Amino acid sequence: MKLIYDLDHEALVSLCLDNGFKRFNADQLFKWLYRKRETSFENMSDLSARLRGFLAENYSIGLLKTLRLQVSRDGTRKYLFELSDGSSIETVLMHYDYGDSICVTSQVGCNMGCTFCASGLLKKQRNLTAGEMVSQLLTVQKDIDELGIRVSHIVVMGTGEPFDNYDNVMTFLRIANHDLGMGIGARHITISTCGLVPMIRRFAEEKTQYNLAISLHAPNNELRSRLMPVNKAYPLEQLMEALRYYCQLNNRRLSFEYILLKDVNDTDECVSQLVDLTRQFDVYVNLIPYNHVDENGYVSTDYKSAMQFYNKLMSRGVRCTLRQKHGDDIDAACGQLRSKYEGGRKNDQQN
Ligand code: SAH
Repeated sequence: MKLIYDLDHEALVSLCLDNGFKRFNADQLFKWLYRKRETSFENMSDLSARLRGFLAENYSIGLLKTLRLQVSRDGTRKYLFELSDGSSIETVLMHYDYGDSICVTSQVGCNMGCTFCASGLLKKQRNLTAGEMVSQLLTVQKDIDELGIRVSHIVVMGTGEPFDNYDNVMTFLRIANHDLGMGIGARHITISTCGLVPMIRRFAEEKTQYNLAISLHAPNNELRSRLMPVNKAYPLEQLMEALRYYCQLNNRRLSFEYILLKDVNDTDECVSQLVDLTRQFDVYVNLIPYNHVDENGYVSTDYKSAMQFYNKLMSRGVRCTLRQKHGDDIDAACGQLRSKYEGGRKNDQQN
C-alpha cells in the first residue's frame, strides 16, 4: 500500500479531484498530517466518512518504528528506525544555538564509497521514498513534541547520496517546506552532495532557495580521488565548473564540507590549494572534526592543529567555521549506529 506521506500537496489535490472529493479536502488532509500530526485517518474529524474510508483503504499512515534511541549529553538524539520492508536507517537531531536540526537519511546504504565514511560499509540497497524521508521528520517531531522542541532546520546529510535519489528528495523537501504543513523554511534546508555534477547542474536550474553543501574534503584530484571515488567520474575541474554555473543562476552562498584527517588533508599545501579553490566563490568552509570509524585507518586532526588550519584559512580570506563535535559519547558518525546494529544482527543470525 502506498504511504500517504509520499504525496506532496499538489498530488493530494489531484487525488481528491480525481476521486470525487474537493480541492479544499487536500488542504484539510495536509494540515491533519503535518500540523496536527495525526496518525490515524479515522481521527480526522472534519473529513467526510467517505474520504476517511477511501484513504484508509488505499493509503498507509503512521510513524516509523524506533529500534534504538541514543541521547547524548549535549542533547543530540540518534534514532535507528525500521522501515516497512525491515531495513533500518539512522536519523539524527542536533541542537544548536540557532535551532534544532534534523539530519535525514536518503538511501538504505550508499554506493559512493568514500573511504572514511561508515555509511559506505553497507552498500546501497535502495532509495528511500519521499514518504520515508517525511516519516523520519514526523517521527522525530512527534517524539520531541512533548519536550517543546520544534525541528527548525533540515540537512539531507544522513546515509546516502541525495542527488542519487533526486526526485524523491525534492518531493520530501516540498512537503516539509509547505506552508500548510510544518513550514520549515527553504533557507533552513541544506542538501549535501559528494559532487554528482549532472545533478548539481539540474539543481542549479531549479532555482530553489535550499542551501547547497559540497562534500569537498580534499583540494586536489589526486587526494580527492583517493578519499572519494566519485572524483574519478567528476574531477574537481568539472565540479568547480558546475558550481560556477550554480552560482550564476542562484544568488546563494555555497558551503564546502571538509573533514580534517590527520596528515592526510590538513597540510599547508592543502591550505594553499583550498585558498585557490574557494577564491572564485561566495563560499563558507565547514571544517568538521572526523568521527572515528573503526574499520578504516583515518585519525582526526587534533584540536590544536585544527585551530591552526582554521586560522591559516581565515588569515588568507577564506570564511570558515570549525564545527564542534556532536554526540561524541554516542555512535554519532554517519552510519555507525546502523552498521553496528546490522553487524550484530548478522552475528545473531550466524549464532
Ligand atoms: N552523500 C552526501 C550526504 C551524506 S554524507 C555527501 O557526501 O555530502 C554527509 C557528510 O558527512 C559528508 O560531508 C560526509 O563526507 C561526512 N562524513 C562521512 N563520514 C564522516 C565521519 N566519520 N566523520 C565526519 N564526517 C563524516
